Amino acid sequence: MKKIIIAIDGLSSTGKSTLAKRLAKHLNYTYVDSGAMYRAVALYVLEKKLINGGELNTPKMIIELPNISIAFEHNMDINSFDVYLNDVKVSKAIRSMEVSNAVSIVAAIPQVRQQLVRLQQQMGAQKGIVMDGRDIGTVVFPNAELKLFMTASANIRAKRRYDELSTNSSSPSLQEVLDNINLRDELDSTRKDSPLLKSNDAIEFDNSQLSQEQQFEKIMELVNSCLQL
Ligand code: C5P
Repeated sequence: MKKIIIAIDGLSSTGKSTLAKRLAKHLNYTYVDSGAMYRAVALYVLEKKLINGGELNTPKMIIELPNISIAFEHNMDINSFDVYLNDVKVSKAIRSMEVSNAVSIVAAIPQVRQQLVRLQQQMGAQKGIVMDGRDIGTVVFPNAELKLFMTASANIRAKRRYDELSTNSSSPSLQEVLDNINLRDELDSTRKDSPLLKSNDAIEFDNSQLSQEQQFEKIMELVNSCLQL
């Protein structure tokens, strides 16, 4: 059976990973959350105190890069992947607001991107992969058979992320979540190296008014036409 690469890019909290996970499960493909990899590097940078008041010590961080190893491991219990930073499970820690506030600064550094892109390309070498991020269709897999570019209104995206995060009393407010999403989109879209862009051959998909089921059905039609080519 033909295997393809599905690249899903788009703004923050547009439901890319929910859709990507579902597609991967349905197709029996590997799912890779590339944002989790950037988040793991940001967590490392925070742990080593290489960022202070939004100021990143870039030269020190570049020296530290060879000491950072990131891996994914399938977790049957949650039917998803756990993320490991230097053999320590960080799946939860990388979702904190502290990491969310640092990640786009760290992700703008070309040396970080080179290291992670290389790893992502290795993961997709055999195809049969769904990867979501910001530069998957433009930089990581420019020849992906199916490229999607997801959008949704900022308020809807903030509410979705807020609902995901608000499971305990120390959760951020809706305004904090909205501010973080807007800031990350701005930084991600304006950085010099691999900015968030819709590639010409990507299909734009505004899911503001679509349920997860409706999105899945529409995208599966696109996947099926790619598989028949
Ligand atoms: O996907 P998620 O929102 O978790 O990504 C966190 C951050 O990682 C993004 O805001 C962006 O700064 C960075 N990122 C990136 N390139 C990717 C995936 C994520 O720069 N391919």
